[in-house]
Amino acid sequence: AKGEDKGTWQRYRPELHSAMVQRLETRAALHEAIELEQFTLMYQPIVDLETGLVSGVESLVRWQHPQRGLLSPYDFIEVAEESGTIVSIGSWVLREALAQFAYWRRTEPAASLAYVSVNVSARQFRTPGFVDHVRQAIEDAHARPEWLLLEITESLVLRDADQVWADLRVLRAMGVRIAIDDFGTGYSSLSYLRQMPVDVLKLDKSFIDDILDSEQQHIMVDTIVSLARNLDLAVVAEGVEDLGQRTALARMGCPYGQGYLFSKPVWPADVMPLVHNVRAL
Ligand code: C2E
Ligand code: CA
Ligand code: CA
Ligand code: CA
Repeated sequence: AKGEDKGTWQRYRPELHSAMVQRLETRAALHEAIELEQFTLMYQPIVDLETGLVSGVESLVRWQHPQRGLLSPYDFIEVAEESGTIVSIGSWVLREALAQFAYWRRTEPAASLAYVSVNVSARQFRTPGFVDHVRQAIEDAHARPEWLLLEITESLVLRDADQVWADLRVLRAMGVRIAIDDFGTGYSSLSYLRQMPVDVLKLDKSFIDDILDSEQQHIMVDTIVSLARNLDLAVVAEGVEDLGQRTALARMGCPYGQGYLFSKPVWPADVMPLVHNVRAL
């Protein structure tokens, strides 16, 4: 059979075919989704583990697909990255999140909510003019740089370090803060951390999952938290799902947590009620 021929020929598999067709369809539909206003943002609170107050929110994009319903980024971010649409999606997300946040600040200036965190893909960050784009987006939203936290990945900070670090320094000089997302899943060495122009580490959920069951994971998180404190970096523990984890994290001195224990991502109208309902968190 052809299939034995060094594996270059494969038997026709309808499920592969349909997966490919779906990718192509996704790619074409993504292209128009911005103009058709099919993207929306949900927000998930980031909680101060000492006080229980909501200190910020992370914006998380969703695609309201006319046939397939509400899609999570896992259903389309990869295709968007590949095709480059992520750059315009990311730009929309940044503007929308800033406009929404400026609205919250204007209407509830006394609330604990201090910043909105926005995910930036590597491709978007490396687009020429990205820093000016951020500056312009802040201005257009009548927002302040201090209200914005940009989440970037470890691999971006390590790759093309010179240009990226220069841009990060300009952003930080403006007052925008930078977080490393999913920290611990890439390969940045801990000694490198001291030099990185960043403000916040978001410790990946995979580290938090086992802190109660695995002594090793517990030690690992404890070590990262102490190291971060010494380097003047804030830490957000991602994927906190139960009270035991929260207590363990608070004991280690981890300053912030995010996860289903506090709240799943919610629609904009549900954010302020969460911020006011401190006891529940
Ligand atoms: P992420 O940045 O690591 O965001 C956290 C993801 O974990 C979110 O999934 C969130 O809903 C989920 N999560 C939060 N707490 C918990 C928990 O306690 N348990 C569990 N099991 N999950 C939790 P979501 O919204 O589906 O986003 C998935 C990924 O898509 C994000 O991972 C981020 O990398 C990417 N993404 C989301 N929005 C954007 C965006 O606007 N731009 C870019 N470039 N990427 C985005
Ligand atoms: Ca993130
Ligand atoms: Ca993350
Ligand atoms: Ca993660």
